[in-house]
Amino acid sequence: MSLSEFQLINKYFARQRIRRGDVVLGIGDDAALLRVPPGMELAVAIDAMVEGRHFPVGTDPFSIGHKVLAVNLSDMAAMGADPAWATLAISLPEANEAFVAGFTEGLFSLAHQFGVELVGGDTVRGPLMAVVQMHGFVPAGKGIKRNGAFPGDAIYVTGTLGDAGVALNKILNHEPCSDALRQRLERPEPRVREGISLRGIASAAIDVSDGLVADLGHILDSSGVGATLEVDALPLSSHLLDVVADPEMQWQYALASGDDYELCFCVSPHRESMLLNMAQSWPCGLTRIGTIDSEAGLRLKRRDGSPFELKAHGFDHFAE
Ligand code: ADP
Ligand code: MG
Repeated sequence: MSLSEFQLINKYFARQRIRRGDVVLGIGDDAALLRVPPGMELAVAIDAMVEGRHFPVGTDPFSIGHKVLAVNLSDMAAMGADPAWATLAISLPEANEAFVAGFTEGLFSLAHQFGVELVGGDTVRGPLMAVVQMHGFVPAGKGIKRNGAFPGDAIYVTGTLGDAGVALNKILNHEPCSDALRQRLERPEPRVREGISLRGIASAAIDVSDGLVADLGHILDSSGVGATLEVDALPLSSHLLDVVADPEMQWQYALASGDDYELCFCVSPHRESMLLNMAQSWPCGLTRIGTIDSEAGLRLKRRDGSPFELKAHGFDHFAE
């Protein structure tokens, strides 16, 4: 059953449908040779996923392959970058073909969806983990950064929040979890097209990986501003509402649980109508959740104006 490293690479990793014209040399040599189109800047992001830390033991291989690429595509989306090339370092306890087959199927089906070519990587034996580095293009000077939010800007978020957190909670507690919620945790849909169309419109953007409060906090810190969020406005899915009855808990999940991979971004008032016109064609939907203030800090308010108190914050790997 056991294949050699090179057999594994040739049989699984080197097989893909996407062949991009800007890949001069892909998998198979000591390095890939790649051509960045003129006038473009290269956006580079890397994310690691470790079994037991980023996905529960027993997660299906297809989902692991999907997610390790999805989280990197989400970083491209948050910069307004168009994803192009991926590299993959994978560590496997053994040359388990069924695992690699499922993993590459998950990875390549998402790569194909966004026109991404896997151009190289490394395959080693060790604890189960996967690292993808993603490379994308953004027109020079057009990358959407975290530091451009300005008092008066509206704060928007794509899709719905908290679904992945609810799913993770169910799975870790060995409680039944609907397929729809599980899908949100294991197969996040990166908002790549939405991110690209925010170029020149969003003043700042981030993808929500650690939880809205934690991630919006990075925009606020980088931009030297504060914000007020309306908890009643937070977008919640019917799947979340079906299993979390208490509104206070719904808001806790939406504000503080991670793994949503939605985009949170800021828009100045004079660009809002342009945004709303554009977003009519976004399948994921878009919700205005608050406003950037000059006063530092994040204020959470209910509809009646009273403050909402957050009990948990975003996920921090080094917090105990
Ligand atoms: P080297 O020893 O020169 O680093 P390797 O023997 O590790 O090269 O890999 C051979 C080729 O296969 C290289 O082009 C490398 O990029 C590619 N490769 C290895 N593992 C993977 C992987 N998991 N996914 C994609 N490409 C891979
Ligand atoms: Mg070499």
